Amino acid sequence: MPHDPNAHTVSAMDLTLSPALLDAADPLQTFRDRFVHDDSGLNYLDGNSLGRLPKATETLLQDVITRQWGERLIRSWNEGWIDLPARVGDKIAHLLGAEEHEVVVADSTSVNLYKLAVAALASVRGSGRKYIVTDDMNFPSDIYILQRVVAHFGGEFVLRIIPSPDGIHADMDALLTALDDSVALVSLSHTCFKSAYVYDMAKVCAAARAAGAITLWDLSHSAGAVVVELNQAGADLAVGCSYKYLNGGPGAPAWLFASTEMQRTLRNPIGGWMGQQDPFDFGLTYTQEPGIRGFLTGTPSVLALAAIEPGVDLLLEAGMERLRAKSMRQSEYLITLWQKELAPLGFTLNTPRDVALRGSHVSLGHVEGWRIDQALIHERNTLPDFRQPDNIRLGIAPLYNTFSEVHAAIQALKAIVEEGAHLGYSPYQGMVT
Ligand SMILES: *Cc1c(COP(=O)(O)O)cnc(C)c1O
Repeated sequence: MPHDPNAHTVSAMDLTLSPALLDAADPLQTFRDRFVHDDSGLNYLDGNSLGRLPKATETLLQDVITRQWGERLIRSWNEGWIDLPARVGDKIAHLLGAEEHEVVVADSTSVNLYKLAVAALASVRGSGRKYIVTDDMNFPSDIYILQRVVAHFGGEFVLRIIPSPDGIHADMDALLTALDDSVALVSLSHTCFKSAYVYDMAKVCAAARAAGAITLWDLSHSAGAVVVELNQAGADLAVGCSYKYLNGGPGAPAWLFASTEMQRTLRNPIGGWMGQQDPFDFGLTYTQEPGIRGFLTGTPSVLALAAIEPGVDLLLEAGMERLRAKSMRQSEYLITLWQKELAPLGFTLNTPRDVALRGSHVSLGHVEGWRIDQALIHERNTLPDFRQPDNIRLGIAPLYNTFSEVHAAIQALKAIVEEGAHLGYSPYQGMVT
């Protein structure tokens, strides 16, 4: 069995120490200053939805706008822009246990999922394999995309959604039992967006491979938060977004991974000129560029793509092993505080208790979850996010969140409920949370 990099136990660090002492002992504490913070003292626990702005990104974007675009104009394509999707992809590959030339930045996560799912299924058409297997904890957009993929093939494939027994953990037994020679594709979120459950990627990949099925992972809540070893695990395909723990900015282009083996066999279903061999020959017949660039389609959004790199550099500098170790300590600390301070007030833990099965956010449920969330934002200068029906999601971005922030958020939740501060808020829910 390959070594499972997420199966650490939390180090012996005493989580009963004061948060200030825990922060002082944090080997990654200096990274916080590499990000922009306004002076309002905002307690930002939403880095799993939109990462903070790295200071280096501000500087870089100024250069991209003023010099690269303003002065160099079209010459900049040959001075670096054309290579950005692959160059930034190479850096992201280092975060994911992939080789350079196996990751490229393009499009959105949803579009990349569509491209790779269609490519994978097209490669097994006529083999008698029928099922696309996923679970009901997957991100809804992924389910929608898989439904459209089924429609694309006119019913040749069927989507099978394995239910979670409790909305928190996956049903691994049901999944592994489902993986037989009727399965074409297994598509799962590695870290589930609501509960933060983390799949054992190596185990799923081994079972899928034994069954002859292709694996396609969504790493949006894993990249930059948990240790991922795509090649060691034997993963075939993966996608993920860049604006969460990678800190690439709102709507940053996403990325996709195709193993070297998959690159040889899969055909990009949206083959456009950026994935064409010799695009500037302007020939009239599509020939897919060999390698990962073949999965590109159209012209990259350069400003948004350039903005990804500094955040990725910070993660590489900190190192995924150290980031994961800190994140595990922080979520364990949060849960220890939940048990003592919040469980008696009706908060439930909607996240796996086992640190090895948990990503980098903690979902706390409460019947008054929405109103408590509003009070946290408006009265306590604390920004979590909220997921239906009652999840207050507290995201821990180990590059910049402190133990003091975790501690303060728990104290704020406690005070709100004890004082009834949430009772003045409307129970009706807004749009983007
Ligand atoms: C955030 C997220 C996405 C984002 O998809 P886009 O198409 O880039 O908007 C996709 N999948 C998961 C699991 C996510 O958490």
